[in-house]
Amino acid sequence: SVRMRFAPSPTGHLHIGGARTALFNYLFAKQQGGSYILRIEDTDLARNREDALQGIIDGFRWLGLDWDEGPEMGGDYGPYSCMERLELYQPFVEQLLAEGKAYKCYCSSEQLATEKEAAKAEGRLYRYPGTCRHLTEDERTYKEKAGADYTIRFAVPASDLLDFDDLIRGDVRFTTEDVEDFVIVKSDGIPTYHFAVTIDDHLMEITHVVRGEEHISNTPKQILLYRAFGWEEPRFGHLPLILNPNGKKLSKRDGSIIQFIDQYKELGYLPEAVINYLALLGWSPSDEHSEQELFTKEELIEQFSYERVNRSGAVFDPEKLAWVNAQYIKASDPQRIVELALPYLEKEYDRKLPLDWVTSLVTLYQTAIQAIHEIVDVSRIFFQDQVEYNEEAKKLLQEEHVSIVLQAVRANLAALGTDEYLAPQIKKAIRKVQKETGYRGKQLFLPVRVATTGESKGPDLNETLALLGQDTVLQRLEQALS
Ligand code: GLU
Repeated sequence: SVRMRFAPSPTGHLHIGGARTALFNYLFAKQQGGSYILRIEDTDLARNREDALQGIIDGFRWLGLDWDEGPEMGGDYGPYSCMERLELYQPFVEQLLAEGKAYKCYCSSEQLATEKEAAKAEGRLYRYPGTCRHLTEDERTYKEKAGADYTIRFAVPASDLLDFDDLIRGDVRFTTEDVEDFVIVKSDGIPTYHFAVTIDDHLMEITHVVRGEEHISNTPKQILLYRAFGWEEPRFGHLPLILNPNGKKLSKRDGSIIQFIDQYKELGYLPEAVINYLALLGWSPSDEHSEQELFTKEELIEQFSYERVNRSGAVFDPEKLAWVNAQYIKASDPQRIVELALPYLEKEYDRKLPLDWVTSLVTLYQTAIQAIHEIVDVSRIFFQDQVEYNEEAKKLLQEEHVSIVLQAVRANLAALGTDEYLAPQIKKAIRKVQKETGYRGKQLFLPVRVATTGESKGPDLNETLALLGQDTVLQRLEQALS
């Protein structure tokens, strides 16, 4: 049965690219009734970060990309991190050494750096020349006796085609000429990514290896290892690069978009929306669903296919993501949005807020916000002591009819009893103003909105006035009239 994995390195925050790769593995594995595995590739000790693993795990849990095997879950193929698997790799290293398919390399990193420099100066592409592959037996014994540090390199065989049928790109061809004798065990005895990933994928019976395009030149190296061991290769697939909104390759330092999953969580994106958007980052639905833009996870599982993953780069469009998020916020149970919004408001205004007030606020703005954090900005008008009128507002408030309208509104709203001060009654009161003054439509509503909120646009006026509260509204009308 299908077994797929995502294998992050715990070197930083969960990135949108990693999350998309994980998703495209998850969706296919689930569609095929297979297993989705999370495995931690932590062989690069210098780059590992203490808190990164938990962050990645939390990110996947939040996204709802739950794994069948892996950290916190266990499984029959564990352990699920390389550093816990060190002794599993050992016999395979010894096998390759014994069979002459790998060799010890005593070249120091200084020596290699010098060689690289020289190649660069001459404009040559550097490739390890196989210095230690050709050592005589005596030279080898001498190095061994001297206790020289060594790495272990794979001995790439002479000219051979290294091709594979990529799930997305079709026939991909490399030759052994493209591959140098790469290191499989570092001088500290820890296997490199290439070696660990191959052994792990084989032992975990991974059937499909799907990862980002930046890994495509790693695949021939790994194919060489499969062949050296006589193992069946998995299917490989390489997902298109993610491009920034300018169509350029996205680097982690690119400030034009938000790149980490936990940042989206903090801003109040909904996980379903992020999943939905990431799915469209390189994949598109088949013709019969070509108009569809919103997909539940179940629909994605049903409809996903690698045939419909693009080969060319996928442009990340933050506005589209925000739009998708807005659709999910709109469609959510208000109770959920209230729960999500409350912490933002209480943090911003540094006090406990009554739940029913927040519920009314959310009801008013649920269709207006694109991310939950925006609730803070839209609600400022409810927390200010005084309204700040911009130039445009000041101008409008000076129009001739305005004082007539505002005085009439003030009188009618003041006449309402405290327990009558509710949206339907407010509506009636304002309608009375229409009769009394003859002003209607924009001439009536706009001055009231501007006077009480400082803004010319917003949600339902009667509801807004109700939520502001009678005292505040009367006081602001006063302010506007003065
Ligand atoms: N650790 C690699 C990464 O984070 C995974 C590569 C692979 O899937 O083989 O990109």
